[in-house]
Amino acid sequence: MDEDAGTGGSSSRAEKKALQRAKILQRESEQGIFKLVARILKKAEAERSEEEAAALLRHRDTVEELCRRQVRRNVLKRKQEEVFDDAEELKNKVSQLAEAVKHAQHLVVYTGAGISTAASIPDYRGPNGVWTQLQKGRAVSASDLSKAEPTLTHMCIRMLHKEKLVQHVVSQNCDGLHLRSGLPRHALSELHGNMFIEVCTSCSPAREYVRSFDVTERTSLHRHGTGRSCTHCGGELRDTIVHFGERGTLEQPLNWKGAAEAAKMADVILCLGSSLKVLKKYACLWCMNRPVSKRPKLYIINLQWTPKDDLATLKIHGKCDDVMRLLMEELNMQIPDYDKAEDPIFSLATPLRPEEESSHTREVIAPPAGQEDHSPDTQGQTEATAVQGGWFGRGYSKGRKKKQKKKNAA
Ligand SMILES: [Zn+2]
Repeated sequence: MDEDAGTGGSSSRAEKKALQRAKILQRESEQGIFKLVARILKKAEAERSEEEAAALLRHRDTVEELCRRQVRRNVLKRKQEEVFDDAEELKNKVSQLAEAVKHAQHLVVYTGAGISTAASIPDYRGPNGVWTQLQKGRAVSASDLSKAEPTLTHMCIRMLHKEKLVQHVVSQNCDGLHLRSGLPRHALSELHGNMFIEVCTSCSPAREYVRSFDVTERTSLHRHGTGRSCTHCGGELRDTIVHFGERGTLEQPLNWKGAAEAAKMADVILCLGSSLKVLKKYACLWCMNRPVSKRPKLYIINLQWTPKDDLATLKIHGKCDDVMRLLMEELNMQIPDYDKAEDPIFSLATPLRPEEESSHTREVIAPPAGQEDHSPDTQGQTEATAVQGGWFGRGYSKGRKKKQKKKNAA
C-alpha cells in the first residue's frame, strides 16, 4: 500500500464506504418493495385494500418487472411440459412422416436420450429424468444401465437403414444401443462416445477395445483413464466419452466426418427423442449456412419443446416407440425383435486378460445362452450400487460432493 496516498486516500475510502452503504440500503429497500408488491399481486384484485392498491400504483416499475418475470417463468414451464398428440392427430402426422421417409433421397436420423427411456435408461431432464432425480437427492441404480437393451425404436432405425430408407444415424447417446441393435459402424456417429469402448491413443491409428461392460466407472471431466492398458504398446486406455464442457476429438466412435457428410447430403432430418439443446450448437448438422429453402426438411419427434420446433416441417408429440410402431405400420415393414444372439457387442468385445478381471466393478452384459465365457463370475454383487461417476453421472453431480470414494477399492 502506498503511504503517500494516506490522507487523500482515506477520504476517498470513506466516500467509497458511504457509497457502498447507500447501495446496500437501496438494495434492501428495493428487496422490501419487491416483497411487498409480490405479496399484493398474489391477492385477487377485489381483495386488495386501498392502501395496497396505492402501493401498486406507487411502485409501477416493480409491478412491471414482476409481471415480466412471471411471463418468463410461464414460458420456461411450458417448454418443460410433456405434450401428447391425441391418437387421431398422431396417426395423421405419422402418415405425413411416412410419405417424407418414402420420398427422401438422403434421410439422416438424429437421436437423443428419449429413444432409450424404454430401455430403462432414464431420460435426463424429463420430469422423472436422472437429472431431476439427482437434484432431489435420489440415487440412480447402476443396474438400470447394464440391463438396457436396444428398444423398438433402435430396432426400427436399424431396419430402415437395412432397407436403405435411412442413410446415417447421428446419436448423442453414450449407451451403445445403436451399435448393439446391429447398425453398422460406418452408418453411425456417436458424437458423445460409447460407454462400451475404450481406446489407446498412443497407438497410431488409435486402437479400439470394445468391452461388454461400462468402461467409464473411473472417468469424469478431463479424466479419461480407465485403469487398463493397451496390449500392444502398454499405453493407458481411455474412455471415448465427451463430457460436458469437452470437445470430442476421437475419430471413432464419434465419426464427426460421417455426421458432417450425412448432414451435407441430407434432404430430410428426423430428430428422435432429443431436446436438441446440445445438438443445435453443432452448426454443421443443420446446414444453417444455406438459405432456408435449401436446408433439409426437419421432422421432430419429442414430447417436450425443442429450440428447432419453429423450423420444423412437422413436430410430433409422442413417445418414440409409439411413433415408430405406427410409422413401420404405415410403411408396411416388419419390426425386428432384438436378439441377444445377434448383438454385435459379443463378437466385437475383447476379453479382459486374467490380471484385468478385477479392474472394474460394473456388471457385464450376460452373453446369450450357449456363448457363456468361462471367466469366474465376480459381478453378481454390483446390482444395487448407485452410480457414482462415469458417463452417466457426468455433469449431473456437478457441485455435489461425492459421498463415497471407492475408486481404488477395486
Ligand atoms: Zn497402444
